[in-house]
Amino acid sequence: MKQYTHAWLALMASKRLYEKRNTLSEKNKKTANRLLKFLRQNNDGIVQGAWFPDSIIHDNSTGHIWKLRAPEAGEEYRQQRHTLPSRSKMPDLVSSRPDNERVVLEKGNLPDRCQALVFQIRDQLKILYDVAYDKKNAGSAIIATNNQIALGFFMLAHYVCDAHMPLHCDARGFDSRIHDDIEKQWEDVITDNYDFLTDPTQKEKRFKLDYRGFPRLADDADISESFLEQIIDDVENRSFQISFGSDNGNVWDYMVDICYYSYLVSTKIIPKNLGSDDVTFTEYRNNYEQKFLDIAPEILGDSIDALARIWFDVWRQYEEIQE
Ligand SMILES: [Zn+2]
Repeated sequence: MKQYTHAWLALMASKRLYEKRNTLSEKNKKTANRLLKFLRQNNDGIVQGAWFPDSIIHDNSTGHIWKLRAPEAGEEYRQQRHTLPSRSKMPDLVSSRPDNERVVLEKGNLPDRCQALVFQIRDQLKILYDVAYDKKNAGSAIIATNNQIALGFFMLAHYVCDAHMPLHCDARGFDSRIHDDIEKQWEDVITDNYDFLTDPTQKEKRFKLDYRGFPRLADDADISESFLEQIIDDVENRSFQISFGSDNGNVWDYMVDICYYSYLVSTKIIPKNLGSDDVTFTEYRNNYEQKFLDIAPEILGDSIDALARIWFDVWRQYEEIQE
């Protein structure tokens, strides 16, 4: 996914939690409110920070992917059950919703990358609020600042959302123009319809935010033909589930299952028996491009939901070790 898509998904995840906070238990609602306050007060660098994994870290061939394929005859594979929260829409895109298809991991460590960031953010929050706010430690140089912790949240957003892009989870090495074309179409819809601020001293535009810290549609936005309409509606109305799904105890488990369904979605659109040589860019344009565009509401909507859940979980973990 591209730069403004990443920042937009992260801002929409905050909005999702905000819209749904009153449906949570009293305890979870308080946790969500504290997280939302932190994010609103530290969202300045979101366009830049959610893009650092691509622009600065460049771990695209490891942290941004979890590339799966079917096992070859006789090849060992690990068969396990994959579940997602019942509100997730990606499994609906795969008609039979198989939860234990045989897959082999070819390349990548995306779930590890996410879990590592979760621990990093949780620990930095704990140290900041327990140690730095004790006056005797004020000014300690080894304690992360709010901005540095916010950057952790934005980078985590990048990897979580990348997992939902089906080609990040499919080991077939299709023409890179295919991957780029899909992501560019999403990016164009977002940059064409939202309001931005430009600062001549900054490389990036910023989303113009409303008083709650959420992105604003441009006055001349026309979203009726795009995925935005359904996603904006979902963010406000689709019922929200805080858990990661029945068998998923932590972010690593949850990300593995997201990647599994992301791979199945990819093979649903470009059938499994076709390899990279079988699908030229022209064939993609003729046969598959529209199908990838049609599923944007489901996969981008699920990535907003997943991020809201995972961010909430990080903040809850930090508060729970405090208790
Ligand atoms: Zn990426």
